[in-house]
Amino acid sequence: MTKQRGDRTRVVTAGRRAEWTQGVVNPPVWRASTHLYESVADLRAAGGRDTHHRLFYGRRGAPTQWSLADALTELEPGAEGTFLYPSGVAAVAAALLSVLQPGDELLCVDSAYDPTRSLATGLLRRLGITTRFYDPLIGADIADLIGPATRAILLESPGSLTFEVQDVPAITAVARARGLVTLLDNSWATPLLFPAIRNGVDLTILAGTKYVGGHSDVMLGAVTAAPGHFARLRDTSFQLGQVASPDDAWLAARGLRTMALRLAEQGRSALAIARWLEQQPEVARVLHPALPGSPGHATFMRDFAGPAGLFAFVLNGGDEAARAALIDGLELFGIGYSWGGFESLAIPVDPARYRTATSPDFAGPLVRLSIGLEDSDDLIADLAAGLARFRAVRG
Ligand SMILES: *Cc1c(COP(=O)(O)O)cnc(C)c1O
Repeated sequence: MTKQRGDRTRVVTAGRRAEWTQGVVNPPVWRASTHLYESVADLRAAGGRDTHHRLFYGRRGAPTQWSLADALTELEPGAEGTFLYPSGVAAVAAALLSVLQPGDELLCVDSAYDPTRSLATGLLRRLGITTRFYDPLIGADIADLIGPATRAILLESPGSLTFEVQDVPAITAVARARGLVTLLDNSWATPLLFPAIRNGVDLTILAGTKYVGGHSDVMLGAVTAAPGHFARLRDTSFQLGQVASPDDAWLAARGLRTMALRLAEQGRSALAIARWLEQQPEVARVLHPALPGSPGHATFMRDFAGPAGLFAFVLNGGDEAARAALIDGLELFGIGYSWGGFESLAIPVDPARYRTATSPDFAGPLVRLSIGLEDSDDLIADLAAGLARFRAVRG
């Protein structure tokens, strides 16, 4: 096997097949509902279920979407194929619906993204699929939770809001031995920092809205399947009528070309800021997988190629008003949902609201930071002023 090229080379070249780019560098935006045929015979020949990578009808995509899907498949070692969705949540839903049926039980990590939890306790429940939430640090002991109806395990690592790193290889090994399907929400790491399929995952999910898009101006989701899992994912997604728009796929592909650079820089800056926060008396704890003491830190060091730019910190006491004083006055951090863009964001988070299997106990309120591409010294100065405002209100 030839040596795998570096991440920066891979994101620049991925998916740019000549048939998709048609002689220019970036695949153009193919904006179309109707695809035209030469004749009735030609139209008949194009029909059928397997229209993968063939012009057929707008809902099945065109080269703009195929190029991006190809790129994400190329970036995930061992993958068979990728399907795109109009959001990350749509990707989570399609992936789960492609493996579960009435009567099945899903094991879902307790630190899952809140809309993923809502999907499990809402739609899946209505369809007769039950969910058991499990401790993100459970590791190989997940075996004890597997019952006769258990069909799939959903992982998310690091977990949303609290950043526990899961022992993915241990859990996927148990799943494989017991004939279960594993799904991982890999939005934080992307395949560049954590190659999910190589770590035993069957369906790996990305909120492309975050690091792939990278500029806070596009909604997109993707599921990349290990061999044997793509056909069912594609059929289910076709039945659900899922299609990512060509304009969004084009924007996301543009973002992808700089993803390796952005991730490396945002990861470096976020770690420097996390280390600085750790030294501040107003901060009780920093939840960042690359810091010793963060839950699953040893697993992170073993399995990940590096850190991303999203983490949280716990304030030392204080209430809602003190936390708001910190966040409201920040000059460089926007207050808003999502993350992974070039600009920094800060939001208050309250993870205990979204837990049922575990109850993380923190000394004070939490703030989540998405670190952008600004100079880290400027971000630190902004946060230092914020901590002073927090202290003034907390007393
Ligand atoms: C944002 C997010 C999603 C959902 O992505 P959308 O594109 O916003 O629907 C899924 N998982 C995680 C971990 C996220 O942070």
